[in-house]
Amino acid sequence: MKFFIKVFGCIQNTADAERIKAFYYDKGFEEVDNWKKADLVIINTCIIRESAENRVYGLINEIDKFNRNPPALRAPSLDKEGSKKIEIIVTGCLAGLAYRDKTGKKMRQLKRDFPTVSEFLPIEKISFEIEPLRGKTGIALIPISFGCSNFCSYCIVPFAKGPEISRKMEDILKDIDKSLNDGFKQVMLIGQNVNSYGSEFGETTLVSMGKKRFKSLFPKLLEEVAKKDLEKISFVSSNPWDFSDELIETIAKNSNIDRLVHLPFQAGDDEVLKKMNRGYTSGEYLELVKKIKSKIPDIRFSTDIIIGFPGEDEKAFQNTVELCKKVGFEIAYINKYSPRKGTLSAKIYKDEIPMKEKKRRWVVLNNLINNKEKTL
Ligand code: SF4
Repeated sequence: MKFFIKVFGCIQNTADAERIKAFYYDKGFEEVDNWKKADLVIINTCIIRESAENRVYGLINEIDKFNRNPPALRAPSLDKEGSKKIEIIVTGCLAGLAYRDKTGKKMRQLKRDFPTVSEFLPIEKISFEIEPLRGKTGIALIPISFGCSNFCSYCIVPFAKGPEISRKMEDILKDIDKSLNDGFKQVMLIGQNVNSYGSEFGETTLVSMGKKRFKSLFPKLLEEVAKKDLEKISFVSSNPWDFSDELIETIAKNSNIDRLVHLPFQAGDDEVLKKMNRGYTSGEYLELVKKIKSKIPDIRFSTDIIIGFPGEDEKAFQNTVELCKKVGFEIAYINKYSPRKGTLSAKIYKDEIPMKEKKRRWVVLNNLINNKEKTL
C-alpha cells in the first residue's frame, strides 16, 4: 500500500508530517511522490489564509474527480476496473478546528462538505513519541511545543491547535541526541510561540509588553541544547513579549545559536497593534531590537508583517515602513490581511482596505526588505 502526503502551511506542519510519515510506514505503507500513484492521500492542512484553505479544497476536488474517472495510471494495489478509490485523510488545522468545536457542528459541516474524505484526523492522535522520518535538508526539525494561547485578533491558530502545550525537556533533548546520532549537525526548535516554551510549568507571573506571562523555560532549554555537539541551533517563531534578558544572554554566550532571529512585529503602528491584540507598541519592539543588537552585535532579524489590517491608513502604513527602515530586516514574510472566519478581527472589524492598495503596500515593503538590490 502506498501513501502520498501533501503539506500546506508552516514549518510546524512540515515537522508534523515527518511523524505522520513514520506512523504510516509503521503500518506497512510506503511513500510515493505523486498522489495519483497512491492508495492513500494524507493532506496536512493550513487555514491561516484563505488561499491556503482554497488549495486544500482544490486538491480534494481533484482527487474526487480522479476517483470518478480513473485513468490508466493507478496504484498497482488498485484493481483494473478502478473500483477501489484513493482514500483521503485530512489532518492539520482544518481537522483540528472541527475537532475542538465541542458542539460537533464544525465536524458535521466538514463531513457534509467533503463526504469523500475517510477521516478528519486531529494531529494530536499522532503522538510526539513517534520517531519522525526526517527529510534530507540537513536540519532536524524538533517540535518543542504545540498550540498557542495568545489570541492575536486575526489568528485562527489558537482555535485550530488549542492552547500551548510544551513537551518535556528530557524528551526534547533525547530527540536531539537521536538526530545527532543520525548525522544531523543543525537543529531547528519549533513552536508557535517558541520562546514561551514551558511557561505552563513556570511559577513566576510577569507582565511583559502588556501581556501577562509565566516565566518561560526556553532560555534553559536553549542552554542545554547549545551544550550538544551542534553546528547551528535556530528557533522559530519567537514573540517579542517573551524575548527575555535571560534569552538574550543565552544567545550571546553560545556561538552555535543562529544569529538570524525571526521576530515577527506584524505592524509598526500602535493603534493597529492594539487592534491586533499584539500587546506591545512599536516603541517597545524597537527598544527590544536595540537591546538585542547591543548585546549581540552580529545579530540579524527576519520578521512577519501583515499589511492592510482594518484601520491601517496611509499614516499607519508609513509607521510600518519607518520601523522596517530602523530595524533593517534581512527577510520579511509579508501577508495581505484577509479575515479568517472565527477570529475576533473578522467578527468586529470591516476588511476595508481594497486589495489593489494592499498589493501596492506589499510591493513597497517587499522592495524595501526582500528586493534590496532592485531598489539600489
Ligand atoms: S502568537 Fe499570535 S499570530 Fe502567533 S500563532 Fe499565536 S495567536 Fe497566532
